[in-house]
Amino acid sequence: MLYAADVFLTPVRMLPEGKRLHGSVGAIRKLERMQRQALLIMTGAMRTTATDVMCAHSNLLPFTLLIDKVCHRAITHICTLPETHPLHRHIRWAGRKFIANHRSALTELIFAYNIHIERLRVYSDGSDVDGGVGAAAVLFAPGRPGYKVLRYHLGSSDDHSVYEAEVVGLLLGAELLKEERDVEDASIAADNKASIQVTKLRRPAPGHYLLDCLHRHLRTLGRKHHNARVTLRWVPGHTDLEGNKAADLEAKRAARGDSSPAKDLPDLLREGLPCSATKMKQTFLASLQEKAKATWASSRRSQKLARLDKSLPSKKYEKLTGKLPRWQANILFQLRTEHVPLQKHLHRIRKADSPICPSCRTAPETVHHFLLTCPAHAQHRWEHLDRSLGCAGRSLSGLLNTSTALKPLFDFINATGRLSSTFGSTPTNKRHTRRPAQRSTHS
Ligand SMILES: [Zn+2]
Repeated sequence: MLYAADVFLTPVRMLPEGKRLHGSVGAIRKLERMQRQALLIMTGAMRTTATDVMCAHSNLLPFTLLIDKVCHRAITHICTLPETHPLHRHIRWAGRKFIANHRSALTELIFAYNIHIERLRVYSDGSDVDGGVGAAAVLFAPGRPGYKVLRYHLGSSDDHSVYEAEVVGLLLGAELLKEERDVEDASIAADNKASIQVTKLRRPAPGHYLLDCLHRHLRTLGRKHHNARVTLRWVPGHTDLEGNKAADLEAKRAARGDSSPAKDLPDLLREGLPCSATKMKQTFLASLQEKAKATWASSRRSQKLARLDKSLPSKKYEKLTGKLPRWQANILFQLRTEHVPLQKHLHRIRKADSPICPSCRTAPETVHHFLLTCPAHAQHRWEHLDRSLGCAGRSLSGLLNTSTALKPLFDFINATGRLSSTFGSTPTNKRHTRRPAQRSTHS
């Protein structure tokens, strides 16, 4: 009764986005009635007995599952045909996509039982753990349990980058494929886009000799297997793919120093890799920056400036002033360092007779006095600073180290007219105003 059922029946199942059952529901129900007749005869049960009770007693599969058994057996048989079989091409074609209309029985069955038309799959990964850098590639072949693996420990993470490791991973993948007996359709996957994109670059990039080696490997692969189609593809790192996980795990093992035997590795890797120039520069620069920090911390000026900006030396000041016109950045710098053409400093460098503020004549004109306390500028201060900044406008760090305070600050300076002899009028709304050149009194 079920002869060639895989051809004339579509197994019943629910499609992911479907509302009704998919498959030959009606035909299977009719056939099921015949199975019931047989069961009645076999068990000698009364007509009123339920089918499932009879199935259970006679140890038969319920009819829909029986159909599944028959169809599954058929499709696994078809999918494991040798590649020389005339059907092979059609099977591969049918398994590509679950098309919307006019699906062949092959497509239906392949997708009903989630059968992958397997090909060689290689996953590669690079890893930087516990101060070491390692790369690994794993190869999965259809019908072979487990996977083949190549691991390579590049060295310490001071000398090598993960990026290099990713490229070495691809290289190991190509080596794994080279050892296979027949490669027709293979893919090497990495979870790092940069390392795949860089394989197409023609201009020199860091570690380009590794890429040259990778290309050489792929070319040899092409010579050995004439029909080989090798695809490099990207798989997002955190997807739960078995292959990705395996590659990640093996790469971590490699990073901890566990390499595959040297005889299995590509020639280039047997000798050990030269240190990465990029990484060496990075490491050295980091050490220089540490030194610069220490030198700055020991300077007596650092304690004074720490009241304004604790993060020095850092990129913060660059960020703060990056979008300012040059003259504003200049004023800001002078105010921060207190080397600014205000009376107190001019007197200190003997360019003025007295340090006293010319506007109020009550106190030395320091940056603090000018910005925060001078009674002569109280009106402007209220208008420009207090109104828009509130409490933040009442401290030097609030005014001189906060990006939101800069516009009110320059409005205030502009309104007071102080510093205009040096910088000219300082309109904050016009970007490209010409100003008189800075005078040489204090420079
Ligand atoms: Zn004053």
